[in-house]
Amino acid sequence: MTLSKIWVYVEANGDKVTTASLEVLTKARDLASTVEALYAGNATEAVAAQVGEYGATTLHAIDPQSALPGQVAAAAIAELAGSQNPDAILFVQSYDGRDALGRLSAKLDRPVLTNGFTLSVDNGALTFGTAIFGGTTLVDCMLSSDAPHLIAIRPKSFAAESASGAPATVNNIGAIDAGRAAEAKVLEVFEEEQTGPKLEEAQVVVSGGRGIGAQENYKPLVEELARTLKGAFGASRAIVDAGWVPYALQVGQTGKTVKPKLYIALGISGATQHLVGMKNSDNILAINKDGEAPIFGIADLGIVGDVHKVVPTLKELIAARD
Ligand SMILES: Cc1cc2nc3c(=O)[nH]c(=O)nc-3n(C[C@H](O)[C@H](O)[C@H](O)COP(=O)(O)OP(=O)(O)OC[C@H]3O[C@@H](n4cnc5c(N)ncnc54)[C@H](O)[C@@H]3O)c2cc1C
Repeated sequence: MTLSKIWVYVEANGDKVTTASLEVLTKARDLASTVEALYAGNATEAVAAQVGEYGATTLHAIDPQSALPGQVAAAAIAELAGSQNPDAILFVQSYDGRDALGRLSAKLDRPVLTNGFTLSVDNGALTFGTAIFGGTTLVDCMLSSDAPHLIAIRPKSFAAESASGAPATVNNIGAIDAGRAAEAKVLEVFEEEQTGPKLEEAQVVVSGGRGIGAQENYKPLVEELARTLKGAFGASRAIVDAGWVPYALQVGQTGKTVKPKLYIALGISGATQHLVGMKNSDNILAINKDGEAPIFGIADLGIVGDVHKVVPTLKELIAARD
């Protein structure tokens, strides 16, 4: 048994809908007979074509009014939900998604569930899987509040699969009075310098943890191995908190979710909060000097050894193969 209507708040970079939004749209198709998309931006036509391809029949297009559309989107969605009664409204667990979601929760007076990585309909009720107690316990939750249920889903929780659908019908929502918050302006955008593949999209990810010993070891051990494998480099929270590498590289519950063909963990213990962000990788190689480290519990290949000895040998072997 499925729900009757789910809305998905989609985000786009320019005129390209984000993969995370397409993942949620794909999942929504399994859960409801009608899937519709909500979008606050200026690329309505292109977005309607993409969300239609992924199964949305209607695109409710919100005039963003400012470069920070959360407030306007929340006001528009709250008004629309009152007349159209969706069973659930799904968001991506992103900065923009959470901005709109939090405001919508206040406007509709509904609770939110965040950080979800599974969704199903059980006996007609939407069931949502997440981690609690700092990520150490996985639970299934159901909202007992009235619809619409408001839920944020972590990127990479589902695969994005096209349904080869026709472009969604556009419902242009007229101007919304979002008050003074709609006057917020983006004054400056800082783009982090990026070399090599993006962490979330790389086929190979090499991450370093506290076991690499010191900040100056990150480049020769982690970064160089990643470059040799034409991959991206990441980190555990321990070394982000220590200031060795920027937060943008953090993998895990409070960082990025990655799903490469190969994930190499160097000197990472394998705390649940780290595993949540990388456990769906196709192959996991762990190098750790402690044979009892939890990371070996999910590794496809484990090397018990010192990263300072194993990694240089690994690099030599890879170089010899080329
Ligand atoms: C709410 C919350 C959210 C969190 N979110 C995240 C998150 O998003 N991502 C994340 O990573 N963590 C997160 N954490 C932190 C997490 O619980 C761990 O503390 C962290 O992942 C540990 O990082 P680590 O494995 O690098 O360090 P440690 O746990 O200290 O492990 C270091 C490992 O290196 C090994 N080692 C030491 N020397 C060597 C050597 N020479 N060669 C080989 N191995 C060696 C050790 O045996 C050990 O296993 C979160 C925690 C909380 C409470």
